[in-house]
Amino acid sequence: MDFQLKGKRALVTGSTAGIGWATARELAAEGTHVILNGRDSARLASAVERIQAEMPDATIDGVQADLSSAAGCQRLLDAAGEVDILVNNLGIFEPKAFEQITDADWTRFFEVNVLSGVRLSRDHLPRMKARGWGRIVFISSESGICPPADMVHYGMSKSAQLSVSRGLAETCVGTGVTVNAVLPGPTRTEGVGEFFAKLARDAGQTLAQAEHDFFKFARPTSILQRFIEPTEVAAMVTYVCSPRAAATNGAALRVEGGVVRSLT
Ligand code: NAD
Repeated sequence: MDFQLKGKRALVTGSTAGIGWATARELAAEGTHVILNGRDSARLASAVERIQAEMPDATIDGVQADLSSAAGCQRLLDAAGEVDILVNNLGIFEPKAFEQITDADWTRFFEVNVLSGVRLSRDHLPRMKARGWGRIVFISSESGICPPADMVHYGMSKSAQLSVSRGLAETCVGTGVTVNAVLPGPTRTEGVGEFFAKLARDAGQTLAQAEHDFFKFARPTSILQRFIEPTEVAAMVTYVCSPRAAATNGAALRVEGGVVRSLT
């Protein structure tokens, strides 16, 4: 399938690693001019180089900006310029007992996971509408529809993204702009890898045993029964960003290995 993405400009937030990097790479492979973003300039440079080395003809840029504040978001907006595609991928997670989650934690999760995407969308959406084409994708999570007991603040932020995403889509009637959310499940990213490596070490298990037990006991409804690869999420995001996906709007698209036992 030709995704018809050649010549489009895309911004992917939090894209030095994980799902964001895989998405940036996939969009670049489709001929999109991609702008990566991360907080650390060395990691950002390396993320850009890794795609460029693989695809010498691709146009890839990087903008260093910490999106946990309004000033950081503005810095990214100023440096990145106009885009046709905005992937609000950035998101942090941290298992913590509800009683231990402070007001500052709640505010930080809202600011980083929700407001960053809100701020960037608020800026870009009016011009996408004026141009008659645009794509905004929020990377939410299955935790947005199945709130996790061990990080209620994360679940709140992922549910909020679903509401924002659908709400923005409702403002796009007849415009050629789509706004959708993609809901990954447990994905084999760096952060999740480190978290599992520690769990395995603490339990005296190999990583493979820890993964097996996680899916057997903690995610028994997973049909996949393994971690999702970042490229498997990136494939869905790339499709949703494509002109071919014009009829998918205001949707919450699950890429969670079947964890959520739902008919829709
Ligand atoms: P990751 O931790 O692997 O990568 C995070 C990226 O965000 C890095 O590039 C990092 O530099 C950047 N980043 C972190 N804080 C930042 C900040 N303040 N400003 C700018 N950049 C910042 O992330 P991931 O696991 O690939 O997750 C990506 C998205 O997918 C998140 O929204 C997450 O909630 C969601 N998700 C992940 C999983 C999973 O299992 N990994 C599951 C469901 C949903």
